[in-house]
Amino acid sequence: MRKKKVSVVISCYNEENNVPVVVEAIHANLRETNYNYEIIAVNDGSRDRTQEVLETLAQTDDKLFFIELSRNFGHQNALKSGLDLSSGDCVISMDADMQHPPEMLPVLLKQWEEGYDIVYTRRAEDKSLSKMKRKSSKWFYRILNSISDIKLEEGTADFRLMDRRAINVIANFKGSDLFIRGIVTWMGFKQKDIIYTPNKRFSGETKYTVKKMLNLATQGILSFSTKPLKMAVYFGFAVALLSILFIPYAAISLYTGHVMAGWVSLILSVSLFGGLQLIVLGVLGLYIGSIFSQSKGFPTYIVRSTNLNQNEE
Ligand code: UDP
Ligand code: MG
Repeated sequence: MRKKKVSVVISCYNEENNVPVVVEAIHANLRETNYNYEIIAVNDGSRDRTQEVLETLAQTDDKLFFIELSRNFGHQNALKSGLDLSSGDCVISMDADMQHPPEMLPVLLKQWEEGYDIVYTRRAEDKSLSKMKRKSSKWFYRILNSISDIKLEEGTADFRLMDRRAINVIANFKGSDLFIRGIVTWMGFKQKDIIYTPNKRFSGETKYTVKKMLNLATQGILSFSTKPLKMAVYFGFAVALLSILFIPYAAISLYTGHVMAGWVSLILSVSLFGGLQLIVLGVLGLYIGSIFSQSKGFPTYIVRSTNLNQNEE
C-alpha cells in the first residue's frame, strides 16, 4: 500500500537561527513514523540569511524544500503559497520559531487518522502572562466575535493539520486579504481541537507588531462580516430618533422662554456628529478598499525560486 504523505509548511521571516532547529525537530518527530513526508519552508522575503541556510540544508536533506517569495508578503500569504504547492495527503502548518512544539505532530496525525479533516490547536492559557494581558486578550476576542459573523476561539493560531480536501478549498481562495483562521472556521468539515503549551521563541523576536495584529483583526472582520455596516445604519436610526425627541423639548423651551445661549451645545453637537460621520465613512471606506484590492486581481504572492518539483504528482 502507498504510504500516506504529510506536508509540513513553515513560514519564515528572518528566522536564520530557527530554521535548522525547527527542521531537525520536525525530522525527529516524523522520521520514525510510517509516513512519507516533506517539509516546505516558505521564505517570506527575509532580510537575513534564511534563504542561504535553507539552500544549504536542502543540499543534504531530500525532504526539505523551500519556496522563496520575491518579497515579504506577510504570514498569511506566505502560508498560502506553501499550502498551494504542497502535495501531501494532509498538510500541517506551523511557525518556524519552535513556539509550536514539534512533539505535537504525531498527536495531530493521530486525530487525522481517526477521521478528522481539520485538527486545530489552542494555546493553553499562559500563566506567565499578567492578569491584565489575559483579560485584555479575552475582551479582544469577545469584541471581535460580536462584530464578526464567524466565531474565533481564543488562542488559535496557524498551527493545524488539514486534510487534502480542506487544502483544495483554500487553494481556490483568490482573495487579497487572506485570513486563513477565519476560512478554516467558516469551512466546516470534521474539526477537532487540541490544547498545547507553547514554548518560548527559540531565537529572534516576534514579527507580529501590534499594528500587524490589528490589521489581521480588521481583515478578519472585513472579510467575513458586514455587521459594521449594519451597525452604522442602526446607529443612524437611533440618533435620528433621539433628535426627534428634541423637537418638543425645543418647542417647550421656546414657549417658556428658557432658550439656551447655544454656542456650547452647537459646537459640541457639530463636532460630535462630525466625528461620528467620519467614523462611519471610514468603515465604508474600509469595505471599498477591500473591494478595490480584490478587483485588481493581483497575485497574493510571487515565487522567486523554489526547489519543489511542481509537476511531480
Ligand atoms: N512570519 C512570516 N511573515 C511575516 C511575519 C511573520 O512568514 O511577515 C512568520 C514568522 O517567521 C513565524 C510566524 O510567521 O514563523 C509567526 O510569527 P511570529 O513568531 O513573529 O509571531 P508570534 O508567534 O509572536 O505571534
Ligand atoms: Mg512566534
